Amino acid sequence: MFESLSERLGQIFQRLRGKGLLTPADVDQGLKEIRAALLAADVHVEVVKELLARVRERAVGERLVESLSPAQQLLLIVRQEMARVMGGEAQKLRLSGRPAVVVLVGPAGSGKTTTAAKLGRHLARKGRRPLLVSADPERPAAAEQLAALAQRLGLPWASADQDPLAQVPQVLARARREVQDVVILDTPGVPPGSPPPPFLVELLPRLQASDVLLVLDALVGQEALRVAEAFRPLGLTGIVLTKLDGDARGGAALSLPSRLGQPILFVGVGERPEDLEPFHPERMADRILGLGDLSGLVEKLQEAGAAERAAKALKGEEFTLEDFLAQLEAVRRAGPLGQLLARLPGLARPAEDELEREFKKMKAIIQSMTVEERRNPHIIGASRKRRIARGSGTTVQDVNRLLAEYEQAKKLLRELGRRRFPGGKLPFPR
Ligand code: GDP
Ligand code: MG
Repeated sequence: MFESLSERLGQIFQRLRGKGLLTPADVDQGLKEIRAALLAADVHVEVVKELLARVRERAVGERLVESLSPAQQLLLIVRQEMARVMGGEAQKLRLSGRPAVVVLVGPAGSGKTTTAAKLGRHLARKGRRPLLVSADPERPAAAEQLAALAQRLGLPWASADQDPLAQVPQVLARARREVQDVVILDTPGVPPGSPPPPFLVELLPRLQASDVLLVLDALVGQEALRVAEAFRPLGLTGIVLTKLDGDARGGAALSLPSRLGQPILFVGVGERPEDLEPFHPERMADRILGLGDLSGLVEKLQEAGAAERAAKALKGEEFTLEDFLAQLEAVRRAGPLGQLLARLPGLARPAEDELEREFKKMKAIIQSMTVEERRNPHIIGASRKRRIARGSGTTVQDVNRLLAEYEQAKKLLRELGRRRFPGGKLPFPR
């Protein structure tokens, strides 16, 4: 998703390549383009202005890190500021009360009923006992849709459609008796931009709901802000952004939290009940910037038991050619822009298949080494280089280049180890 934005940013950073310093002129040039890209992604103009002012202030004053190119540094700052605008940390449902009441509100067709089922599934898997409740006095089919979803998921459901004002409190009492600890209330939609249904305005204060979630379709872009304003009087506590699997331009994700003062809690990424994900500001920034899901990648590496090695590597100690190969694999999986950014020291962007060829070559070279050579590369002299080149079908220059890249990676890791990144995370896998 958000292809156009990531492509544009890719071009911007390519143009900045090869500069030794992040001068105010560079920053301004980069920011001008980022501004255009963000506006094209339908981010609110005021949000763009604030974001870029913060980025500029930080970028111009920032102490330069030798091993990062200016474009990489600027990108890191943009990424951090974007995540900050989107709320910084991932936020959770409050779920207070017994039962906790979660109300889904929003315009027609935004995905409320689907999200009710998704949330039910999500909470049930976390050991909760959710009850799905439909409160739509105007559309009899609404309850059927929710009931069908609930049945498919094996979750209990109830209808308060005939007279929600009277029935919802009864359903809450029933939930309490039957030890359902979360009630998820699905409500009717209104045309986008219209105020919420009057009965809802009357009902909500009586429920003491812990979570009032505004469900919005990411595809509507800036229109989302107008819709959100209309629902603000309901006392919203968070946002669910749906249909991020489509070609939404992502602007809404950046604009909503700051304009509305409420965090995005979940994103919908498909029509199936399992297509719901907790919202992670950093990951969303990565996705908008076309970096792939790098934090997710780091997590996956850790799951694979690579945490210890990564920690070692970060200190630049005992970073062997075997570790280097593992890092190369990780970078390879990080997608085109991730690969581009991870390439050091410049930002030359080779063609996709060229990258792949180069990766294979590097792998062949490392595999032609003995275990001893991989762990102690300093023992590799001229005759060993000739043998490795022959064995891998490459040249001595290729072997030299690989060893030089390895040394550079090691140096960068030492640098990163010394300079703790905010959040304590590696910005990209190397
Ligand atoms: P409601 O009127 O707000 O209750 O919206 P519905 O839950 O009935 O959803 C409207 C349409 O959007 C349905 O066709 C859903 O399958 C679809 N939908 C909901 N969430 C998502 C999502 O995250 N991704 C996609 N692709 N479709 C979704
Ligand atoms: Mg519905």
